[in-house]
Amino acid sequence: MNTETGLLNTIDFAESENQQMIASMARDFSNREIRPHIMDWDERQEFPIPLFKKMGTLGLMGVLVPEEYGGAGLGYIEYITAIVEISRVDGSIGLSVAAHNSLCTNHILQFGSEEQKRKYLPKLATAEWIGAWGLTEPNTGSDAGNMRTVAVKDGDYFVINGAKNFITHGKSGDVAVVIVRTGEVGDSHGMTAFVIEKGTPGFSAGKKENKLGMRASETAELIFSDCRIHKSQMLGNQGDGFVQALKVLDGGRISIAALGLGIAQGAFDAALKYSKERHQFNQPIANFQGISFKLADMATKIEAARLLTYRAGDLKNRGLSVSRESAMAKLYTSEVAVEVANEAVQIFGGYGYTKDFPVEKFYRDAKLCTIGEGTSEIQKLVISRSILK
Ligand SMILES: Cc1cc2nc3c(=O)[nH]c(=O)nc-3n(C[C@H](O)[C@H](O)[C@H](O)COP(=O)(O)OP(=O)(O)OC[C@H]3O[C@@H](n4cnc5c(N)ncnc54)[C@H](O)[C@@H]3O)c2cc1C
Repeated sequence: MNTETGLLNTIDFAESENQQMIASMARDFSNREIRPHIMDWDERQEFPIPLFKKMGTLGLMGVLVPEEYGGAGLGYIEYITAIVEISRVDGSIGLSVAAHNSLCTNHILQFGSEEQKRKYLPKLATAEWIGAWGLTEPNTGSDAGNMRTVAVKDGDYFVINGAKNFITHGKSGDVAVVIVRTGEVGDSHGMTAFVIEKGTPGFSAGKKENKLGMRASETAELIFSDCRIHKSQMLGNQGDGFVQALKVLDGGRISIAALGLGIAQGAFDAALKYSKERHQFNQPIANFQGISFKLADMATKIEAARLLTYRAGDLKNRGLSVSRESAMAKLYTSEVAVEVANEAVQIFGGYGYTKDFPVEKFYRDAKLCTIGEGTSEIQKLVISRSILK
């Protein structure tokens, strides 16, 4: 690698056998088990737990977890591929798979003790347990370092009070990794991560959000009211929580890039097919340059987004720093997902505005990608800081 520019000297574009295998498995599974239910789950805002259990048996809920802890033991290239194929069909299922794998499970994998890994990873990797990850609070989203949920030390225990909001699987999660304040506000080493199981006294779920999109992915509050947990539930050292969270987000943002890529691809596939079938002025609308140029722009942006996303995954696999690259992939791919879904609705005309065709849902789901795991503005902060330093 050229250390000056951070650019790779060579890129291997060939798909590996593992990548082809997981793509075909995730595609078949999504077409068979997800596609028939998309609008039903969306309209009822149902988080389909049995589906996640099935994905657990296929290794999709522990893609990055080593086999010794019950996972699939694969890398980021396969992980991106799986999320793209699922999100191409239903972004809300892709979001939940991403949050479970990248946030909760990966935080324990990266920072848990051997005992914590042996206890939690096999259950998470097989989806016997669903995982949640709580950083955001009602008053601190982008500014997460100013969080107010506090854990006060009391002998061998910590007593937690406060609330986390917008937490994926906040209600149905069997276990949550939460980052809370254990020091002064404003001190980046004043926060600590804990793993907390459902049913712990003083730990409960609050309001479930009624959302624009991603409606089959559950989003809810976590509430802590004198929640007493043993110090053995701490992940890593006291004061390391915020730094751990940023590292977890470096990987998480690759999965949100994959989510956006899948949504963009799904919207594009639908628009391409429709443009050849829909006739106006006695010909397929694809014959009009106004439509074919839209398709050309959409396809080009998707390919650029794909390259950024896989490049970030490749760097991550090689253990290199990916803060900038994952922010670039997440920023670009999220914005492309929104643009492509918007154009797909346009290509469908009035039908695109109805729930009889899939593009209105891609349009609604895509917007989350520019918000979750750091807004587009926050990605630009990460990227600009990195290039200006
Ligand atoms: C469906 C969904 C699922 C989620 N899942 C999780 C989860 O599992 N766990 C979790 O912890 N969180 C989760 N989140 C929270 C998500 O990460 C936050 O919503 C996000 O980080 C933005 O925070 P905020 O909503 O408080 O917006 P704010 O931080 O209040 O931002 C409001 C606006 O101000 C802009 N802004 C803020 N600061 C700056 C700045 N310095 N410069 C320029 N612009 C700025 C933002 O970009 C945005 O446009 C989820 C959110 C959603 C909607």
